[in-house]
Amino acid sequence: MCAARKQTDDSLLAPTSEQRAVALFRLVLGFMAAVMIAFVLIEGWRVWRDYRQAFLTAENAVTNLARATAQHAEDAIRQVDAMTAALAERLEGDGFDHIDKPRLHALLKQQARIMPQLHGLFVYAPDGSWIVTDQDAVPPDANNADRDYFIYHRTHTGRQVLISSVVRSRSTGDLIIPISRRLEYPDGRFAGVLLGTIKVDWFVRYYGDFKIDERGALVLAKRDGTILVRRPSVERVIGNSLADSEIFRKYLPFASEGVAQAVAVVDGTPRLYGYRALSSYPLVVEAGLSRESIIAPWRHDMIRSLVVLLLLLVGLAGFGWVVLRQLRERIAIERALHQAHQTLKALALTDSLTGLGNRRRLDGVLEAEIGRARRQGYPLALVMLDLDYFKAYNDRYGHLVGDQCLRRFAEVLKQVLKRPGDLAVRYGGEEFTVLLPDTDAQGASQLVQEILQLLRRQAIEHGGSPLGHVTVSAGLAMGAPTLETVSPENLMAAADAALYQAKRQGRDRYCLAGAVDAGAEQGQLNPTA
Ligand code: GH3
Ligand code: MG
Ligand code: MG
Repeated sequence: MCAARKQTDDSLLAPTSEQRAVALFRLVLGFMAAVMIAFVLIEGWRVWRDYRQAFLTAENAVTNLARATAQHAEDAIRQVDAMTAALAERLEGDGFDHIDKPRLHALLKQQARIMPQLHGLFVYAPDGSWIVTDQDAVPPDANNADRDYFIYHRTHTGRQVLISSVVRSRSTGDLIIPISRRLEYPDGRFAGVLLGTIKVDWFVRYYGDFKIDERGALVLAKRDGTILVRRPSVERVIGNSLADSEIFRKYLPFASEGVAQAVAVVDGTPRLYGYRALSSYPLVVEAGLSRESIIAPWRHDMIRSLVVLLLLLVGLAGFGWVVLRQLRERIAIERALHQAHQTLKALALTDSLTGLGNRRRLDGVLEAEIGRARRQGYPLALVMLDLDYFKAYNDRYGHLVGDQCLRRFAEVLKQVLKRPGDLAVRYGGEEFTVLLPDTDAQGASQLVQEILQLLRRQAIEHGGSPLGHVTVSAGLAMGAPTLETVSPENLMAAADAALYQAKRQGRDRYCLAGAVDAGAEQGQLNPTA
């Protein structure tokens, strides 16, 4: 009994270890997936953060560059503005008829020396002829009446300086930015033009000192978009208009300074620009770093970390694959073991001759069935059956035919017992036991009679039996639901005693044992007719 119980417990353990392996497999799979996803997410976040950081840094850089170049341009022009203002005041105050040309020439020369951005200083008469300049040699018959700024001042009375588009100097051939102002007689008539010119080259050199990538750009333009200076210095773009560029169209009308990504109209390069309109003059500066120069270091770093990540993932996947494959093998082994265990267990509980359960099978369930019957309050019947004169049958027909007969009797049992809860086992030799849960004495008697009857109808010849054919005797014991004292042992003993009684009364019949209790004796007999 105990051995059988232990086996039942073992059978409960077997699927658990397979389930554990499956759970471990899932755990490892889940863990690997989680680690991989975590790696990808962390790396993705880092790459994204670096990308943002690269642009933030670049935004700061272009903002600073734009401020520096704007300040530089503003300072350079303000100096010329202030100087020409003072000069105009003096010329107008002294009167144009009393100009001391040598003295004025010396003064202009001295001013030009002080201001490195200055290309030249010029005073023109109302007809455009040169009155005095800082240069030593004045070209003969030089006349600037055709210059745009000259025409402008002649026709406009404003006294502010005018910053004009770049022209080529008539005296030196340099590219220059003219900064001019109108001269007036005391009565307000046009008295000529005072001109200071700034070398484009001076800006180009200044812009060249900044460390920006070779596709970066620095631009000084008039507010109307006309380019005055540009780095990289390409002469043909000077004078071109940026009026159609994104920054002039979309940004400058709304903000005098800022940062914007745009594709340059001059060279088609996508850049991050810092732009700034000068506060005192109608000028704009743009400082741009090429998108490529911003992204390239980030991209390089990203590719490197992607390769590392990929290697890591491949390594992890390989490792996971090995682990999971081993786990899968283990699961397969566990499953096979479990199946083998189940098969063995089934074999261990089966009678190989008849295919019925064996004694161990009955031992395994009897106590549990008694307990259940007691708990649920239904009666339970135990029948012991023993073939009559079977030794003689064996002696007469041989052991093999004896076995054949045992099998036929097993078929009879199977045929009569139809409820799934009914259990027939070969208890040993030519003895069989039938357990009938939830069956009262009347029902059990009926079944036993059916068994006896069906066997008789088989009419298996038995020359060694006074009855002429194979018969069986049975003892039937009832376990009443109310009796606490019913145990497997006394139930078996009662059935056995009833069987003995049936044998004594002439065989081929059954006896019903009396109520079963601790000191069970066979009770009133109830032989078949
Ligand atoms: P009774 O009517 O009193 O039961 O007489 P019996 O001869 O059947 O009783 P007994 O217990 O003396 O004999 C049982 C016989 O059953 C002994 C043996 O020859 C036979 N037997 C037991 N096990 C097997 C088996 O596995 N195969 C075969 N062929 N015969 C078996
Ligand atoms: Mg026997
Ligand atoms: Mg017998």
